[in-house]
Amino acid sequence: MKRAAILDRDGVINRNERPVNRPDELVLFPRAAEAIRLLNGAGFLVCVATNQGGVGLGYMSEADLKAVHRRMCELLAREGARVDDIVACTHRPDAGCPCRKPKPGMLFALARRHDLHLAASYMVGDRDTDVQAGLAAGTKTVFIGTGPSEAHYEARDLLDAAEWIVRDGGGSGLPRQDP
Ligand SMILES: [Mg+2]
Ligand SMILES: [Zn+2]
Repeated sequence: MKRAAILDRDGVINRNERPVNRPDELVLFPRAAEAIRLLNGAGFLVCVATNQGGVGLGYMSEADLKAVHRRMCELLAREGARVDDIVACTHRPDAGCPCRKPKPGMLFALARRHDLHLAASYMVGDRDTDVQAGLAAGTKTVFIGTGPSEAHYEARDLLDAAEWIVRDGGGSGLPRQDP
């Protein structure tokens, strides 16, 4: 079994003062690549789980979303950081689907696909709904922002979160993955 750092996207990896519907609207946070590189090197699978209801609502297409994610991976790769998998809920926010956070569906899907040990994995997000999805899936949780929150740790940004995860999960005893 593997352990993963499952990251929300908007407000965690990239800025989200405005919705990101096109690749050129994606701007990484300054220390995001460094954070992901740290997680890569520590043997965590790095996954992104993102609510993208804008697809269901018609603000962007599935192709736009794919292009945004290609761009994100490209920008991260330039700084030596790797995202191993991305899952998105593209349903309308009112659809009642099992994947839109705070529901844990995307985390369970990742766990099945990658044989994840969820109790040794981490969900990182900037909203309560991210923390709730993590708790419902049985992961540890990191909230980026100032609390109060139910998360196991409150971080300033993704690098702070990654440093805590590596400290906290360093001794889990699970086999490390090849970086
Ligand atoms: Mg977010
Ligand atoms: Zn969904």
